[in-house]
Amino acid sequence: MDSCVGVEQDLDKAILKFNNINDHTNRALEDIISQVEDLRKELSKQPSNTPLTSTQAMAVTDLAGSVKQNVVQMSTDHRELHATVSRVGKSIDRHFIADYASVAPKAETFCNDTNRPIMEQAIAQHLYRQGLEDVGDTFVAEAKITGVERTCTFALLQRFAVALAEGEPAPALHWAERRAHELHNSPLPFTLHRMQALKLAREQGVCAAIEYARRQFPAHAARHERQLQAAVCALAWCTPGAGPAPAIYQHLLDPKALGAEAAELFIKEACGLLRLAPLSPLAGAVLAGARVLPALHDIRAKMSHPHVIAAWSDDELPFEVDLGEDGGGYHSVFACPILRQQASEQNPPMRLLCGHVISRDALNKLAISAKLKCPYCPMEQSPAEARQIYFS
Ligand SMILES: [Zn+2]
Repeated sequence: MDSCVGVEQDLDKAILKFNNINDHTNRALEDIISQVEDLRKELSKQPSNTPLTSTQAMAVTDLAGSVKQNVVQMSTDHRELHATVSRVGKSIDRHFIADYASVAPKAETFCNDTNRPIMEQAIAQHLYRQGLEDVGDTFVAEAKITGVERTCTFALLQRFAVALAEGEPAPALHWAERRAHELHNSPLPFTLHRMQALKLAREQGVCAAIEYARRQFPAHAARHERQLQAAVCALAWCTPGAGPAPAIYQHLLDPKALGAEAAELFIKEACGLLRLAPLSPLAGAVLAGARVLPALHDIRAKMSHPHVIAAWSDDELPFEVDLGEDGGGYHSVFACPILRQQASEQNPPMRLLCGHVISRDALNKLAISAKLKCPYCPMEQSPAEARQIYFS
């Protein structure tokens, strides 16, 4: 983030300089044009084939000199601007690390015969999940990929989200209405109805919007009182000839802003409801990787001793990295909280019915006959109900 701020500062400087030069050049050009036109007008008053008076000749020479001087100044300014722009490029090189090869020395394993098809499937799956069917189809055909599910639930949700972002709430609304009982604690239904009411106000007039609001809003009045009031007030600025709306209503009257907000909420709520990961495996891996790389790069630079370097294994990170709230839960290793041992193929992590995870050895030790009491929450369950967890 510091790197982005650093580059942004240099970029701001370049933009400021560009705008200043632009303003100055435009003013100078306008000035010259009006001077040339004035002089032309004055000279045209004179009968043709009459020699210029000495004052007129002086005026022409002065103006030509002034034009030349301005052109020289403009080209100097332009050269200086070029230097400022190239400083932004240098700033990017200085603030960001271009070569991560030392952090991932085995990166080429992505391209071996075993992993390459997996990578290609992940890319195709990502494209389909994003609703980019045309791109996905071309990719699958050209790379000859097999076994990729073309239509998945997420792709459908993504299509609804794209429609929302374009200002069309109908498909998402239809989806949410069919799941109304599961969404009764979610802000999604109200957000979609509000969007539909404001769309009606824009397209069919305020009366249609009020009629819709009368039908749909009362069910949401208790939970969304303030937003509901704001939405109804915003209708006042949907009439023809209404002046500009006050700032607090502007985002409600901007279909793009409202659509983007609804699309984000829709994906979050729908994925939560259907227990889908909001990111495709590829997008999740890229997001986690982007967060982990700078830390890995720093530690790699410090770990130069051969014994320390040996701790750098191929398939696990040498430390725990916090991926933030939206980073999801990614683990490359699992250490049993009961036996304090790292899990292995012989002693894999097991997810208990309550959701807590312990190693299989711990599970076997804790199980008394056919019963097991979770060491974290005292839920009683059968050891047979535990499921093995795979990290891949
Ligand atoms: Zn538990």
